[in-house]
Amino acid sequence: MTTPVAVDTYVKIEDPDPSECSLTEGQHGHRLSSEHINLLCHQTAKEYICRLCIIQFPDKAPMTFPLHSSHHCLIDHCEDEHPLQCDYIASLTQEQLIEAQNRLNGV
Ligand SMILES: [Zn+2]
Repeated sequence: MTTPVAVDTYVKIEDPDPSECSLTEGQHGHRLSSEHINLLCHQTAKEYICRLCIIQFPDKAPMTFPLHSSHHCLIDHCEDEHPLQCDYIASLTQEQLIEAQNRLNGV
């Protein structure tokens, strides 16, 4: 999946080995992992919907991803578009994560 992003800000940060797939920013940016996906995206029967888009841009249509999308794509989007929220989510402890997920599931 290629997204025409403004590369200037992100690349250049010490990645001497460009052979690693298209996820150039993946090397240093990914503090989030699959266990955070539930918090980042709401999964419906058809697709993932970015929760952070809904929170941050309530007036716009949220980003959606097909169910077969890799978690990488979802995380990439969130870290690009919602860096502050990602910081916060990444800073949660395991306990807080579970608690937050439980809260979500209760809705
Ligand atoms: Zn989003």
